[in-house]
Amino acid sequence: MTASEFFQRDFATNHLGHLEIGGCDAVDLVKDYGTPLYVMDEKKIRANCRDYLQALGEIYPDADVIYAGKAFLTKAICGLIYQEGLGLDVVSGGELYTALHAGFPPERIYFHGNNKSHEELLFALRQGVGQIMVDGLMELETLIQLAIETRTRPGVIFRLTPGIEAHTHTYNQTGQEDSKFGMGINDGVALHAVKMALRSPHIKLLGFHSHIGSQIFEVAPFEAAIKVMGEFLVEVRKQTGYVAQVLDLGGGLGISYNKEEKPMSIREAVTRIGEMVRESLTALEYPLPHLILEPGRSIVGSAGTTLYTVGNIKELPGIRTYVAVDGGMTDNPRVALYQAVYEAVLANKMYEQVTEVVTITGKCCESGDMLIWDLPIVSPKPGDILAAFSTGAYNYSMASNYNRLPRAAVVLVAEGQADLIVARETYEQLVQNDLMPKRLKVNPKIIAK
Ligand code: PLP
Repeated sequence: MTASEFFQRDFATNHLGHLEIGGCDAVDLVKDYGTPLYVMDEKKIRANCRDYLQALGEIYPDADVIYAGKAFLTKAICGLIYQEGLGLDVVSGGELYTALHAGFPPERIYFHGNNKSHEELLFALRQGVGQIMVDGLMELETLIQLAIETRTRPGVIFRLTPGIEAHTHTYNQTGQEDSKFGMGINDGVALHAVKMALRSPHIKLLGFHSHIGSQIFEVAPFEAAIKVMGEFLVEVRKQTGYVAQVLDLGGGLGISYNKEEKPMSIREAVTRIGEMVRESLTALEYPLPHLILEPGRSIVGSAGTTLYTVGNIKELPGIRTYVAVDGGMTDNPRVALYQAVYEAVLANKMYEQVTEVVTITGKCCESGDMLIWDLPIVSPKPGDILAAFSTGAYNYSMASNYNRLPRAAVVLVAEGQADLIVARETYEQLVQNDLMPKRLKVNPKIIAK
């Protein structure tokens, strides 16, 4: 059985038996850019953006899709999603800086985060960021103060905790009451914040937001969130007369990391969500607000593949075979964080038979530095190219320099052409921010010994 047959996936394979991504031979990409290498398929990202916009536009015309940059953000991606007509969700000064540096229009930016610093808020206000997502009462007070100081009047959306527990990894749940994110509806904090906002001439309350979690496979938790949010909108109107212009339901749609995971298509899920919002608010006799979705993973996740070079192989008789690659938890921390299960193939041996089961490990000094447990694979040899799939979201953006490994390069591929969009980090860059107090200067002769 070949890898295609085993994983029941149609891998694009060329006449040399090499994996192709976006029309580029994976082995050639490795020759040109080295490993580990993140490869992002431009066509797939664009197709996912279009699926969102078209499906939502058909069912709920007054709507917007904003890309959650935390999934994967570089200047090139900002350009791409801008071209596709999406807005952008950022959660830090660094993400905001990246977007602005790429020329992303500030009015299309939504600034999230549960602990934005004064500097970050000032930066956003001075740059004219269109929407600040307020996460708590203390932040609301700070923002009003900073708006007065900067003589700005920011558009504000409140992040609420609707009290929904989505069926996903606990680290991916964000809508439950016991959460570090958002303002509680049931405890009255959200309503109190609305009253505060309506009293202030220095901010403009646009509406409400909820994000119930990530890697969600069913629409039921969204339905539950829509119900809670709808009832809150009605309660706010009853108590204050305020009618929300914006309802932002966050992101969260799951993707398939392996053949056991079968998510709904973007079109199917988005259509259901749009329908549910219409039905629910119409039943409550509430005017339909501008609807926003904030996908991250489902835009870029399946578009990413990471290429590695196989290094040392260790057979432990009767136990398992460890196949080490030249990356690991530094470029993909999701296995250690969420026990994520990935699929991978040898990109230079696509037509060969899958004969073994091995465990793919990284090169970091952690026993938890595993990439894939028990992977059925073609017999691996040092120098082979391992391609791990669906690594486009929360891999590069969560990468670290643990063990002082330089961060991997990223290429964007389309129609057989590859563009380097993030250069590989160098050793010089690893030490460029290190400072050496004089009293710790090492005698070069000692180093040389
Ligand atoms: N919006 C908010 C507020 C989030 O916290 C996240 C992810 O954590 C997203 C959107 C994107 O979620 P996903 O990547 O699951 O679509």
